[in-house]
Amino acid sequence: MSVLEIRDLHVTVGEGDDAKEILRGVDLTVRSGETHAIMGPNGSGKSTLAYSIAGHPKYTVTGGTVTLDGEDVLAMSVDERARAGLFLAMQYPVEVPGVSVSNFLRTAATAIKGEAPKLRTWVKDVKSEMELLEMDSAFAERNVNEGFSGGEKKRHEILQMRLLKPAIAILDETDSGLDVDALRIVSEGVNRTREEGEIGVLLITHYTRILRYIKPDFVHVFVAGKVVEEGGAELADKLENEGYAAYVKDSNEQA
Ligand code: ADP
Ligand code: MG
Ligand code: MG
Repeated sequence: MSVLEIRDLHVTVGEGDDAKEILRGVDLTVRSGETHAIMGPNGSGKSTLAYSIAGHPKYTVTGGTVTLDGEDVLAMSVDERARAGLFLAMQYPVEVPGVSVSNFLRTAATAIKGEAPKLRTWVKDVKSEMELLEMDSAFAERNVNEGFSGGEKKRHEILQMRLLKPAIAILDETDSGLDVDALRIVSEGVNRTREEGEIGVLLITHYTRILRYIKPDFVHVFVAGKVVEEGGAELADKLENEGYAAYVKDSNEQA
């Protein structure tokens, strides 16, 4: 049982006079076994939230707390966050020259578990997960992210999540750039993980379509750097019909 708690989180990007507050008091709790969708218009700070939890150096936390099972996440290095059980696909470099997907995954698993996974079971696990994600076996020998298509990047992200078995996974725009088949395959990967274990999922998205495949337990509407409304899966249906306009208007009037 794990719990990720975000309390009154304030984050800025840029330095000195250029510093701009992007997150303006985010409150959110994600527990094992729960799937939360964060939905909001472009530029509302959704990715900033993901990067801040990941520990990206460009983002400065100016207030608030992030804890995992009571431990201070903000005091942890990026590696420590992964070892603590947080999975954030974008914490990994865009391209890793000369490192194959296969070696990359094994190195990551070793770093997280503190020992190398047994080679024979590992090779079998990677192979069967790749088959489930309908990935060509040759993909394992390609260099990480080198020339990956949008769909391959997203599949690789889910493959990492499947093999690293995190306590809490944060998936940012996992649906962007996917055709319907790829969206279904990627969503099934997430759903398998939900069914098998106690993972907590924070699914960040601009569009409602992925939520047809991955049913969230909670939906949070995110506008101008904070959560402005919360509900169940039915809130996503409302957003699908009505969009974000009403929330954006409210937040402008308050600003
Ligand atoms: P979303 O993911 O909801 O579309 P982002 O978190 O990407 O929103 O961006 C929120 C705001 O923060 C935008 O105005 C964006 O331009 C700004 N921003 C995000 N990251 C940076 C950065 N590294 N440098 C400067 N501005 C940034
Ligand atoms: Mg505040
Ligand atoms: Mg984004």
